Amino acid sequence: MGVKRYGLLPMALMMLLMGTLWAKSQPVPLPGASNDSGELTPTATQAHPSARPWATHPVASGAGPANAAQGLQVKSASTVKQGEVLKVTLQHATGLQLGTNDYAYATLAGRKARLFSQPDGQLLALLPVSVYEKPGVYPLSIYNAAGVPVKTTDITIQDGRYKTQNVSVSKGTAGLQPLPGELEAIQALKDTVSPVRYWEEPFVSPTVDCQNSPFGVKRYHNGVSTGDYHKGVDLRSPAGRPIRATAAGVVKIATMYRLHGGTVGLDHGQGIGSVYIHMSKLAVKPGETVKKGQTIGYVGSTGFASGPHLHWGLYASGLPVNPNQWVANVPRCN
Ligand SMILES: [Zn+2]
Repeated sequence: MGVKRYGLLPMALMMLLMGTLWAKSQPVPLPGASNDSGELTPTATQAHPSARPWATHPVASGAGPANAAQGLQVKSASTVKQGEVLKVTLQHATGLQLGTNDYAYATLAGRKARLFSQPDGQLLALLPVSVYEKPGVYPLSIYNAAGVPVKTTDITIQDGRYKTQNVSVSKGTAGLQPLPGELEAIQALKDTVSPVRYWEEPFVSPTVDCQNSPFGVKRYHNGVSTGDYHKGVDLRSPAGRPIRATAAGVVKIATMYRLHGGTVGLDHGQGIGSVYIHMSKLAVKPGETVKKGQTIGYVGSTGFASGPHLHWGLYASGLPVNPNQWVANVPRCN
């Protein structure tokens, strides 16, 4: 596959980094929704989604109690790919947040995302789509804080066309075990949904180097399927390269772990988080606020890695998502 240097992750780590633990992403029963237990269909087609402007289209009122949200305008793209995020914006949402729950929310394909107030007065929900979601048409539904559906429309989930990738795994690193609390800390970061928004688009790639393993590829180890996929991107960066925060946020993790190696985890607010692993050296401490582009550490090959590189993962509302949807430039290694 032309990939020579990137992290080789044992199953325990892959289960975590690759987002096998779906349970915290608040599945909700919806007509036509599928679950995540389906198998991926291998495809030889090369297609790596890149950042693009969000097309918008008006969403019609549903057949439900639309009077509860008169004048409400909902905007989103009409399509979203597996592994990407559907951004849903609501205007004139007065009263939507008042109810028996703490917040209004949106649902798509069994996922639920809170609607957060934005500085311009609009509401925004980030709905992640699993790599495992079956392509097709699904209802996007908006619920007020009383749990009453006020709008619905159809969204088409498209095939992400993720390839397969074989990784040669040596026996030498296979015995690495996580430190106590290591896996739990990263799981907690993934599940974090905090109210203050720090992030702004576009995000920046954490290093200036090219990507040699994209998000979403189905991973094989020594020719045997792992049954899982790559839940971030690998950047072919030399040891010592400064690693930049992809967006502004708060440092939740800054620890030299055993399995992940030097790790920084950032909470960017309103359901967006990012993780950076295998660092040689950390440059931030937990609780610190960082700016977009600020150096948070340096590239290394610590933990379960076969050589210097950076694994960069992005989470949205509890699911690993394709970071390349959020950055303007996505250099790929030849
Ligand atoms: Zn990786």
